[in-house]
Amino acid sequence: MTGAAQFKVVTPPPADGSTRARAGRLTLTHGVVETPQFMPVGTNATVKALDPDDLRTVGASIILANTYHLYLRPGHERIARLGGLHRFMAWDRPILTDSGGFQVVSLGDLRVIDEAGATFRSHLDGSLHRFTPEHAIAVQEALGSDVAVAFDQPVTPSSLRAVVADATERTHRWAERSLNAHSRPDQALFGIVQGGLEPDLRAESTRYIASLPFDGICLGGLAGDETPAQREATLDVAIPLLEADPRPRYLMGLGSPVDLLEAVHRGVDLFDSVLPARVARNGQLWVPGGRLNVRNQRFLDDPAPVQEDCPCLLCTRFSRAYIAHLFRAKELLAYRLATCHNLTFTLDFMTRIRSAIRTGTFPAIVSELRLRAGRMSASEAAEKSA
Ligand SMILES: [Zn+2]
Repeated sequence: MTGAAQFKVVTPPPADGSTRARAGRLTLTHGVVETPQFMPVGTNATVKALDPDDLRTVGASIILANTYHLYLRPGHERIARLGGLHRFMAWDRPILTDSGGFQVVSLGDLRVIDEAGATFRSHLDGSLHRFTPEHAIAVQEALGSDVAVAFDQPVTPSSLRAVVADATERTHRWAERSLNAHSRPDQALFGIVQGGLEPDLRAESTRYIASLPFDGICLGGLAGDETPAQREATLDVAIPLLEADPRPRYLMGLGSPVDLLEAVHRGVDLFDSVLPARVARNGQLWVPGGRLNVRNQRFLDDPAPVQEDCPCLLCTRFSRAYIAHLFRAKELLAYRLATCHNLTFTLDFMTRIRSAIRTGTFPAIVSELRLRAGRMSASEAAEKSA
């Protein structure tokens, strides 16, 4: 372990087994992250449409930035020359970078994987690039994130067993290489568990990754095309194996409020997703119990705020009529206000979850929290996998 991440479980799960939800505190180089926590995604060193003041106001304590995108543009060496990622994007709180594995492997026909690494074509200009575990770590060290992540080979959850087994074994070899390559003492390093939806492969991968001296454990290969029941069954395999493990658990790519709630209930501490911001830019605003599509004509005469008790910039100053108008006129302010609202809703939801865990009321109010989360629509589900 690097010593660049200290994780303390503040409220362990109750002994009666009613939930595996726990509250913790993750101390990183640039600050403290209370868990369970959601990380907004700043793909290109910006959470789309927001500036760092907006991010602080919506309650973000840590964000995720994408290694693959920043490597291609503007280039990790340029960011390092300019003082590192925190300085570059003027964000002084913690940043986690992913390894690029998910983006590289998602390129489909544009990439070839061998034992040493992955060769791929840039989605920007078609130029040829190569990522190895060592290179993925070097890029993240140049960016200077608080938390780097080992390079892995994710597969779609529904992949054939042989494909999952092969990628999981390679992920284990790449995990060791990532650890050996990592040298930055002020940067933590998390490892990634794979294993798809196969219980024995998932268990084996959990045990293997947990046996290595990472600072945290990522659960990869989920938040894809699996059903909620399949995801929950997979968590029920992996999390009990980590029960006595002192490190944080991070489920990559999950973002709808109801999905976050169920995963916290099963013992997950950290999440990231583009979902709240992406659906906001399409005019879908999350409110307690459901959502408003502000592109709907019926809001054009509605003087009420989007959500009565919401502290965000949109709800405290503007009406449903105004945001409905901005979306119809394709005004840039629409994207900022809508994103502020959905991230405020999501991060406030996590705050409610944390305080319920800390006061011991989580099992009693989990159904109330489910109602607040609402259900994800089919169109949101389609967007998530797009
Ligand atoms: Zn709001």
